[in-house]
Parts: sequence; structure tokens; C-alpha cells
Amino acid sequence: MAGMTKPSSSSTPAIAIRDLVKRYAPAGTDEGKLALKGVSFDVPEGGIFGLLGPNGAGKSTLINILAGMVMKTSGSVDIWGFDIDRDTRNAKRSIGIVPQEIVFDPFFTPFEVLENQAGLYGITKALRRSEDLLRAVHLADKRNAYARTLSGGMKRRLLIAKALVHRPPVLVLDEPTAGVDVELRRQLWELVSELNREGATIVLTTHYLEEAEQLCDRIAIINHGELIANKPTREMVGMAREKIIVLTFDRDVTALPDHPGFVKCEVSGERVLEITYDKDRSNAGEILSAVQAQGFTIVDVTTREADLEDVFVSLTTEVRETA
Ligand code: ADP
Ligand code: MG
Repeated sequence: MAGMTKPSSSSTPAIAIRDLVKRYAPAGTDEGKLALKGVSFDVPEGGIFGLLGPNGAGKSTLINILAGMVMKTSGSVDIWGFDIDRDTRNAKRSIGIVPQEIVFDPFFTPFEVLENQAGLYGITKALRRSEDLLRAVHLADKRNAYARTLSGGMKRRLLIAKALVHRPPVLVLDEPTAGVDVELRRQLWELVSELNREGATIVLTTHYLEEAEQLCDRIAIINHGELIANKPTREMVGMAREKIIVLTFDRDVTALPDHPGFVKCEVSGERVLEITYDKDRSNAGEILSAVQAQGFTIVDVTTREADLEDVFVSLTTEVRETA
């Protein structure tokens, strides 16, 4: 790792994206799908950065622009300080990409897949490290197996090794754990953390909130081609200022209680109400008295804290409503 020296200082971000726009349309027209609507953010060096968003948000479009597989419409991208238009070769050498789709020639063995990739990058035989890479992704015993005989998880690990052949300082994984079982997901998390500890800056896209929360130290959320949040994971989870209180009554709820401290109040079952409130502006005692003062008899109370999922839902819903 870290084979490439950055042209500028160590405070230069690993990736800098400015006003990135992608319209999937025939050249010269302004029709077609606007997949990225002017996205700007930095990926700091040395961390695990999560790009989170629902299906169709624009995650793969962004990754494929980094990979040089999709042409951007406008905006700029620097990878490891190299502009992808002006310094394409160095930009490409600074990044390894694991695409969302698994594609291999079924008749090559894992060892050959890595050797071929090294050949593409002009790495001489003496400097290749296919054996080390196979060990790193726990595929040493599959060295000579045909790619078509590997399980889905093994293929994904082989793709990661392939992306590392040229020792890029930045590794990008597009939905590495989509459709992958729990055990394999854990293995992949382990591998990604290991690579990060060894010095690689990691970017991964995911639509699993749990994955982003566990693995990433910084999270950006993208929705409908727009960046709607970008914060350290801890702060992002801290945005969950809302608390939820679940009340069970002695009879069916015919009219809803009301109070200025409520953010939301909805029936969630027979005789059950879920009230959301902002914990900076109200508290459970106040909510309970208000409900009782309006003639409701409470027979049971439970509360829960909002989590990253609640933050995500509220952020992505706001954008949909104003779009
Ligand atoms: P994500 O990876 O977040 O699921 P994508 O980047 O794949 O999102 O897609 C973003 C939007 O761009 C979607 O509406 C998708 O249908 C559209 N899109 C993606 N690829 C193409 C393409 N080659 N041609 C036209 N539209 C596309
Ligand atoms: Mg995608």
C-alpha cells in the first residue's frame, strides 16, 4: 500500500469531488436521467468512508466516474491529488476499484487473474505479489482453482485482491456485501478493517445502515443524486435527537392527544400510540402528563432512542418532500 507519493501535502484529501454532475443522455442533449446533481465532498486520507444511500441514489454512478468507466457531465475529481482529466494515468494508478457486479473469465485461476491484472499495469514479474495477495484475502488454497468453481464470497475476495494488485493507496468498494450472508459479511468487514489498518484509505458504498455504522468513521448520505449529509459517524448518530415513547391505553384510541412537544404521534397497534419527541425540547414526564391531562388512561409505557436508521429515514424523507 501507499506506493504512490501524493503531489501535494499530506493534508490533501485522498479524493476531492467538486460540483460533480452526471446526466445519462446522448451527447449534446439536455434530456435524460440526472443521476448526480452537483455533488461536492472530500474523502480524508486514512479512514473508512461510507457513501450511504438507497437504490438509485447515484452511488455506482459516482464510483464508476472514479473508476473512469463513466464519463462525468461536469465538475472535477482529484484522486490522491491527481485530476482525473489532466492527470488520468496517475489518478488511475492511485485507486483500486471493486465493482458492484462480479465479472471474471471463468477459465482463469485466482493466481492467473492476479497475474493478468499485474500485466495490465506493467508490473514486472519480480515485483508481482500474487501469492501475498491471495493469502491476504484468504484464498491461498484456491490458487489453482478455476474462477467458476469459487463461491460468491470467494469471488468477491478475489475481486478485492485484483483491485490491490498495483498497490493503490485508495481502495473503493461498491456494495461489497450486497446479497452476502451474515458470516461472509463479517469476513469482509474484517478484511476491509485489516487493509485500512495497513494504511489504505477505504471508500465503500452500502445501503446497509448497520454496516456503515460499524465499519466507517465518516458517513456521507446521498439521495436522488444529491449529497444530504456528510459527518463523522458518531456525530451522524448523534443527530438522532428524537426519542420515541410507546403508550398502551385501557381502551381503543378514538382521538389523538396533542402537545407542542410532539414531533409525531401515530397509532401503532390496537390501543397503542407511538409518540416521537425531541429530547432537547421536551421529556418523558411532560409527554406523559400532557397525555393523561387529555383524559387518556395509560396502562403501559416503553421508550426507545432513535438510531442511525431514524436519521437516515428523516433525512431521505425531507428531500423527497421538497423535491
Ligand atoms: P445506486 O448505485 O445508488 O443504486 P446508480 O448510480 O446505479 O444508483 O443509479 C442512479 C440513477 O441513474 C438511477 O436512476 C439509474 O436508473 C440511473 N442510471 C444508472 N446507470 C444508467 C445508465 N447507464 N443509463 C441511464 N440511466 C442510468
Ligand atoms: Mg449501485
